[in-house]
Amino acid sequence: MRKFPREYIEEMWGEIQDGMARVYVLQPLMHKSTRMEICYSADDLDYEFGGNDGKMMLLGTIHTHPNAWCVPSVCDIETAIKDGEICYGILSLFTWKHRKFTALGFWGRNGNPLQTFIGEKFDTRAGKPSRRNPQ
Ligand SMILES: [Zn+2]
Repeated sequence: MRKFPREYIEEMWGEIQDGMARVYVLQPLMHKSTRMEICYSADDLDYEFGGNDGKMMLLGTIHTHPNAWCVPSVCDIETAIKDGEICYGILSLFTWKHRKFTALGFWGRNGNPLQTFIGEKFDTRAGKPSRRNPQ
C-alpha cells in the first residue's frame, strides 16, 4: 500500500478469439490519480501500440482500487462505455488485520463480471508452451 496509495491504471492489449478476450500485454497509461479516482484522457490511450503485427488490439484498461472492494464503481462503468472498452480489470489492494491482500476481477463494459482464466497450456516436462492447440 505504501507503493500504491493512489489508483494506478494500465492499458490491456490482446485479441478476441472464439468469443474470449485474451490479454497479452499490460502497458502503462499516462494519468493523474488520487486515492479515490483516476483522471486520464481517452486521447492518451495508445491505439497504435499493438497495431504493428495486426494481431493485438486495445481491449480496455486495468486499474487498482487501494483499500476498496474489487467491484466497478458507477464511474468505472460509465468510463468503460464512453471509451468503448471491451473489458476492464480491477486489482484491489487492501490491508486487513495487519495483513496485505489482493483481489483481481474482470468486467464487461456494462459491469457484468467475466470468467477469468490465467495461464497457457504448458508442457511441464519441457517447460515450454505446448504445441497442441489449447481448446
Ligand atoms: Zn475503479
